[in-house]
Amino acid sequence: MASPAPTAPQTPWSPQSWRSKPVGQPVAYPDPSSSSSTHPAPDPVLYKKKQGLEDVVYKLETLPPIVSATEIERLKLSLANVANGKAFLLQGGDCAELFDYCTSEKIEHRLSLLLSMSLILIWGMKMPVVRIARMGGQYAKPRSKQTEVVDGKEIPSFRGHNVNGIDVDDRLPDPERLLSAYFHSAATVNHVRSLLASGFASLPTGGNHTVPWSLPLAHVRSPELLKSYEDIVKSLSDALEFMSVIGVDRGTGGAAGALESADIFMSHEALMLEYESALTRLLPVPSFAASEPGEKGYYCTSAHTVWIGDRTRALDGAHVEFFRGLRNPVGIKVGPSMEPDELVRLLGIVDPKKEPGKVTLISRYGADLIDKKLPAHIKAVQQSGHKVIFASDPMHGNTKTSSAYPGVKTRHMHDIVYEISASLRIHSELGSRLGGVHLELTGDITEDGLSVTECLGGSMRLEEEQLGLRFESYCDPRLNFEQSLDIAFMLSQAGGR
Ligand code: PEP
Ligand code: MN
Repeated sequence: MASPAPTAPQTPWSPQSWRSKPVGQPVAYPDPSSSSSTHPAPDPVLYKKKQGLEDVVYKLETLPPIVSATEIERLKLSLANVANGKAFLLQGGDCAELFDYCTSEKIEHRLSLLLSMSLILIWGMKMPVVRIARMGGQYAKPRSKQTEVVDGKEIPSFRGHNVNGIDVDDRLPDPERLLSAYFHSAATVNHVRSLLASGFASLPTGGNHTVPWSLPLAHVRSPELLKSYEDIVKSLSDALEFMSVIGVDRGTGGAAGALESADIFMSHEALMLEYESALTRLLPVPSFAASEPGEKGYYCTSAHTVWIGDRTRALDGAHVEFFRGLRNPVGIKVGPSMEPDELVRLLGIVDPKKEPGKVTLISRYGADLIDKKLPAHIKAVQQSGHKVIFASDPMHGNTKTSSAYPGVKTRHMHDIVYEISASLRIHSELGSRLGGVHLELTGDITEDGLSVTECLGGSMRLEEEQLGLRFESYCDPRLNFEQSLDIAFMLSQAGGR
């Protein structure tokens, strides 16, 4: 089948060319000159002037990049390995990262969970794992409802910390939050880099490790499941086999390499284009990635990779326009409303050179729709010749309202496990491959030392009535530590096939 004609972009691209296109999920900043503005008068002591969007964008344009072109290109190489079937992608983190999550403890909990999961996956799949955190910038949220009713009053929805606050009287968008986003992001990325450089990810078998690599299993209720998890953990301690596996990819840039020098890359949804374009820089392409000496490219330096959300992926919209000029590897969320030919046209715009691993398609249909929707998307991509990574996001199509707590969103592990298993099965039936998973999860523990209670089921059999115990998310419900390990064990047992 001939692939549908790509929508050939007619106009030249620049980091600002998105401004001529319709912006999905726009943020309406109050006019600072209007009297209805909530901007307080300048503080008479600090003489601090409240900054408008233009001032903020100008400042962002002068600040240094958060990540480097070299790091971005190293991730791109690792993702090409995933696209070529030689590695698996694990991407995960909070739905909405709060500025308050920028503490050493919370960052370490998040890294520990991703590292623990990747250890299980490497063991089960016998291949390297590329780890990407939804962290260090995941501060903006698209919302299906732009307002909500609180105490009988209609107020703007919480759009993420780089737009507005959680408190009901702090819901007007404030452009200064974009500057705060930059500094929280930079502090988070800095801490991740320093942890990794100090041996945080070292194996328990040696080295200067600071992470408890033990995999606690006390929560597992079913004796059969406990036995199979214990078998996996026991095998994991077979260090010789393990070292031989993780040594395979040594020297290719590290993302998939040895755990003692594990890489963790940063990602977020690039929703706020003012922010993303201000941090997009024309930089020399590192020599290992350049096709000719002196080559330069545009890098979005707010994160190693960014994705387009399911609500902002219109072919003629501002987000797609922005993404088409970037050298970064990028993600595209693919929900049930995506038509197969639309998907191929989108790939034609964002990945015209058909680079392996340039695009990760993050599909999120829901357990009830995956069997109906995924096959046609796989076939269309196969026929198009694009070498994408197919990743499964089993979270966003499976959000339900709790029956015990009206208005509270939750997700059931049954649906999550079903969507991943169906992805594995459908890909294998069609001669394709599930290259990764994209999860909302948290390694956070609450003050009482316990995991959050936001999703239902799993080996700890979390029930509806327990949701209220420690529901901490201000956006979508996340897998807790134990439920995240369940997914890793499940994938590990499936061997990635
Ligand atoms: C998300 O990843 O938090 C999100 C909003 O996803 P989607 O764009 O797939 O709805
Ligand atoms: Mn979400």
